[in-house]
Amino acid sequence: MSEGTIFDKIIQREIPANIVYEDEFALAFEDINPQAPTHLLIIPKQRIATCNDIEKDQRELVGHLFWVAGEIARREGFAEAGYRTVMNCNDNGGQTVYHIHVHLLAGKALGWPPY
Ligand code: C5P
Repeated sequence: MSEGTIFDKIIQREIPANIVYEDEFALAFEDINPQAPTHLLIIPKQRIATCNDIEKDQRELVGHLFWVAGEIARREGFAEAGYRTVMNCNDNGGQTVYHIHVHLLAGKALGWPPY
């Protein structure tokens, strides 16, 4: 696998981030360039570059990221109001960091479709 990304440095606490959730498998932190009142990134501690690179035995790990999204939403009180989860893949998807991440966007009625 190619070398790691800035998210590895966040996991290792080598660069700062506002971490809002952590467990054995995942980390969630505030996006530095928020696109909604709440904009968090949920990442696996194990690096997977893109959605295309998810192996069959990593399905549970990826599902865990979405469980974390719901858990944060319940804890922060916006589960009922609603929110959006997004995972961008490669250039056309707008992916810029090659360590999969679920964007969790909340805090307002979000537009759809995203173009
Ligand atoms: O889906 P995409 O790969 O474009 O998302 C990467 C996200 O990582 C961006 O929303 C960017 O603002 C965020 N980011 C961050 N902290 C960094 C570098 C990038 O929150 N140090």
